Amino acid sequence: MSGCPEELVRSFPDRLHGGKVNLKELLPSELEAFVRLLGESPYRARQLVRWLYVRRAGSFAEMTDLSRAFRQVLEEVAALPTLHLASPEESLQDTTKFLFTLPDGNPIESVRMRYLEHLGPGRLAVCLSSQVGCAMGCEFCASGKSGLLRNLQAWEMVDQVLAIQRLVDPRGERVANVVFMGIGEPLHNFRNLLRAIRILNHGDGLGIGMRHIAISTSGVVPAIRRLAEKRLPLKLAVSLHATRDDLRDRLMPVNRRWKIQELLAACRDYQAATGRRMTFEYVMLEGVNDSLEEADRLVELLGGIRSLVNLIPWNPVDHPFFRRSSKSRVQAFQDRVQQGGLRCTVRREKGSDIDAACGQLRLREIHRHADGSPRTEVPLAPGAGG
Ligand code: SF4
Repeated sequence: MSGCPEELVRSFPDRLHGGKVNLKELLPSELEAFVRLLGESPYRARQLVRWLYVRRAGSFAEMTDLSRAFRQVLEEVAALPTLHLASPEESLQDTTKFLFTLPDGNPIESVRMRYLEHLGPGRLAVCLSSQVGCAMGCEFCASGKSGLLRNLQAWEMVDQVLAIQRLVDPRGERVANVVFMGIGEPLHNFRNLLRAIRILNHGDGLGIGMRHIAISTSGVVPAIRRLAEKRLPLKLAVSLHATRDDLRDRLMPVNRRWKIQELLAACRDYQAATGRRMTFEYVMLEGVNDSLEEADRLVELLGGIRSLVNLIPWNPVDHPFFRRSSKSRVQAFQDRVQQGGLRCTVRREKGSDIDAACGQLRLREIHRHADGSPRTEVPLAPGAGG
């Protein structure tokens, strides 16, 4: 081998795992630089991409079209970490949840969302986590309660897709749609998020189109602007949940920093830069934000933005202030928004499926009985931010 570990460490200082270069952290162009440092041709990088993301190899030994000598070198200098599936798939009517353990022992969740699967038969939509915990502290969200533990690395986001893909392979299904709406505020983990998206998108690997990747944010304005500058056709969903700053300040502390008008100005600029329709998530809380006046104000606020409003019925929870809006109130709100000229949908609710939105599986895991069986009454909150 012409490269040496020290040289590799110097070349990829932020991409190490256990002192070795984590190949799953590398962009395909970086994989090319990596194999060059090992004295191999760039073609080897393409082979590695296929082994990592198409064949989803779990070890170098499986990479049988690489020479034995090269595989031996890879064993010495490179790492292929994987997420550990901590619980079997938990299938509900409209979602399937996956709980993973990270190498440091922290749990994260991913969710297959059937109600987003309108891409054709066998094409799956999955919701990924981007952080362990979340710093945003939204009033209605369990993930925000424990604070942020750490950002996920890019490979820890991509590996959620690989692990799910491995599970559904036998059924001939393919992950074709990715939503960053699990635990965490993805725009708080901007660099790793972008790296993960580029890896997911690369044509030699998973090939998930940018237009099929969505980011859900609580409204981190500078990051929305930074994302707009990239001019990537990524879908952006913003958790709005209120039309007045005083209320949004209480529901979502992020609003104390960036007010609604500032957020919407960034959304307008994002749309101008990317051409993508915006989605605004709006959790329906009885007597809090579900009046027809709120609906009218929402229409007014979103004027000039090509948008979809997605109403999220609140799930019954033990919360001192919040109760679910009645079906008739949700319907009236939807009608009013539609009359105002905006597209407006109601997120389908199938019992506790709704908890798939934001970090709730982890909460459920924490609330399991000692014998491992899930509790029936767990405070499930439809967070819909990061
Ligand atoms: S709703 Fe999203 S952004 Fe808000 S605390 Fe929960 S995970 Fe974080």
